[in-house]
Amino acid sequence: MYPEVSLYIDGAWSKGAGGRGQDVLNPATGEAIGTVPHADRADLDRALAAAAKGFRAWRAVSAFERYKLMRKAAELLRGRAAEIAPIMTMENGKPVVEAKAEVLSGADLIDWFAEEGRRAYGRVIPSRAEGVYQHVVKEPVGPVAAFTPWNFPVNQAVRKISGALAAGCSIIIKGPEETPASCAALVKAFADAGIPAGVVNLVFGVPAEISEYLIPHPVIRKVSFTGSVPVGKHLAMLAGKHMKRATMELGGHSPAIVFEDADVEHAAKMLSAAKFRNAGQVCVSPTRFLVHESIYDRFVDRFVALAKGVKVGSGMEPDVRMGPLAHARRVEVIEGFVNDAIKHGAKIQTGGKRIGNKGFFYEPTVMTDVPTEARIMNEEPFGPVAPIAPFADFGAVVSEANRLPYGLAAYAYTKSAKTASAIASAFESGNVSINHHGLALPEVPFGGVKDSGYGSEGGSEALEAYLSTKFVTQVGL
Ligand code: NAD
Repeated sequence: MYPEVSLYIDGAWSKGAGGRGQDVLNPATGEAIGTVPHADRADLDRALAAAAKGFRAWRAVSAFERYKLMRKAAELLRGRAAEIAPIMTMENGKPVVEAKAEVLSGADLIDWFAEEGRRAYGRVIPSRAEGVYQHVVKEPVGPVAAFTPWNFPVNQAVRKISGALAAGCSIIIKGPEETPASCAALVKAFADAGIPAGVVNLVFGVPAEISEYLIPHPVIRKVSFTGSVPVGKHLAMLAGKHMKRATMELGGHSPAIVFEDADVEHAAKMLSAAKFRNAGQVCVSPTRFLVHESIYDRFVDRFVALAKGVKVGSGMEPDVRMGPLAHARRVEVIEGFVNDAIKHGAKIQTGGKRIGNKGFFYEPTVMTDVPTEARIMNEEPFGPVAPIAPFADFGAVVSEANRLPYGLAAYAYTKSAKTASAIASAFESGNVSINHHGLALPEVPFGGVKDSGYGSEGGSEALEAYLSTKFVTQVGL
């Protein structure tokens, strides 16, 4: 059963003050399975007051006590993974195994941030004069407004909540309206762990209405957003105008290069698994496949065979590898990308069509002969479509890899240590993964460069994002 979804403000679950809301659809059927309430201005004011109060209380809690409560939230979330996973599948479409893995990795993220919060060290700076004592203290930046998307309803939210809480900040999180229940289940784990009222607040609503009100509000000191580049640029502008610290985790268009000496079988397997995971709706999904001409045909054959073998269906079925796209507008967008590529002369090697007329299913799709002018070679597709192109030499492939304004993730396959280090240093990207997919673990930095945003949502950098630096100099009298 799909649960009833509520807002969580100042330690209490409630419906929106104005009685507004929207349906939540099951993307496997297109049918409504529940509703999500919308927050009104009155709800946001309550959330702001709660976050201000929660911040005063939470910053006074020792890092060790915060760690204990967060660890408890992680344990609760871990223990509930089997029950949250099908709820996430119902609202997002991803296979239950992927949903369960997301919840479990969410628990790992909380654990890691809980521990890291105990290591928010300052430092002592030797002074120039005797008797002067200079030190640097790290303090929580203040109440946070965070905006998280529907592709990883738990994982995108848990990074922001955990980073904020570990640093001693309170947070108002605007969760994803398309996939609200699993995000609410995450917040419930924090609530049930005994995090004080007002420290974590969850709202849903009309995204622009909420961001336009929260970001400029004097209570909010930090903004964190995960989503598309255009929305990210708009919110960054708003944050800049009001001098709010900001972390922007935006879209990508990740190049995946397969060099002539790569293990073709391994590269095809790893890259196809990464491409069709979550139906391609992943910000670090490999997008432009650039394959050396000497192994091009072999790679295409293998990749196409693997794409054909991906079983698509309801994420509730145990052997399904790829579910539907998360909402109806994604299907239209993907159809637009594919039709545009065909118009530009692309050849469809497999897929290229939506599946059935119920739900938001789209075939795993592989295209070749896609010219650079085609939209898919320039804009983030965010779907199960892989354009593959050949390259001849290192310089040309580096130019192509760095051609776009995105810079979130980049992949390469090669057996040469020399090529591996050359490409790692040449990529203009916040994340580089060579011969495997090793991104987004709690302890490693995770963020983009160029239009893909700034700031990090993993590693010690992610905690730093919620801390201010205070310098204190003191002389004994
Ligand atoms: P969209 O641009 O309408 O929305 C993207 C996200 O931003 C959603 O979660 C949405 O609720 C939120 N949003 C939109 N306008 C907002 C505003 N004014 N204030 C605050 N939040 C706002 O696109 P979409 O159709 O939901 O998703 C498609 C695109 O979004 C993709 O092409 C992809 O680039 C991007 N996206 C990226 C990620 C990521 O992990 N970086 C996740 C989801 C979506």
